[in-house]
Amino acid sequence: MIDPAHGGIESGAVLNPTILEKDVTLAVAEHLRQDLTSRGIVTALVREGDANLSTDDRAAAANLERPSLYLSLHASSEVGALRIFSASLPDTVNGGGPFAQWESAQTQSLAGSRAAEQQIAAALQTSGFAVRQLTAPLRPLNNVMVPAIAIEFGPPSANVVQLDSPEFQRSLSIALANSIAAWLSHPQTAAPNPSVGGAATTGAPH
Ligand SMILES: [Zn+2]
Repeated sequence: MIDPAHGGIESGAVLNPTILEKDVTLAVAEHLRQDLTSRGIVTALVREGDANLSTDDRAAAANLERPSLYLSLHASSEVGALRIFSASLPDTVNGGGPFAQWESAQTQSLAGSRAAEQQIAAALQTSGFAVRQLTAPLRPLNNVMVPAIAIEFGPPSANVVQLDSPEFQRSLSIALANSIAAWLSHPQTAAPNPSVGGAATTGAPH
C-alpha cells in the first residue's frame, strides 16, 4: 500500500512556486503502482487524487487492508540521499489510557518494518542510490499495525524542477519497485533482538 503524503488543502512542502510536494508524491506513487503491478505485486494507493486525508485516515486505511507493507512517500528540496524512516515509538506509549493502543499500534510490526527498511535500503544502494536510514516519530507510522516505512526523496542535483520530471520519477519508481520486489521475495528478519515481542508474527519466514 503506497501512501502519497499530503493532499487537498495540505500541500506539503512548496518545492517551488509551481511544484507542490503533494503532487510530486502522487505522481511517483502512480508510477510505483504501475511498476509494482507489472511485477505481479498487488498495489493500492491510499489516495488516488488530490484528497484531504488526515494521518489517522491513512493509518486506518492501512490497518483495514493489512498490506505486506505500508509505504509513505514524501518529497523535499534536499539534494541527494533518499531518506528511509521506520517508526520511533515514544516511551510513553505503554502508559495505558484509551489511546495507548492506537499510539503504539506499530509495536507488533516494528521488527518487520526495520527489516524491510534495511533490505529495501540495501537494494536501493545496489542500484546506485545513496540512502540514509533513520527512525522518527513520524505519523502515521506509529499508528500502522503492519510493516511500515516512509521514504523521502529529493532532486538528484540542486535543480528542484527535476522532482517534477517524468524521467526522474520513472527512474526512482523503477528502483523502488525493484527494491520492494526483492524484499518481498526474500524477507529476512532484522538483526536478532529477542526482546522485541511479536517479531515472529510479522511474516518473516526466517
Ligand atoms: Zn512530506
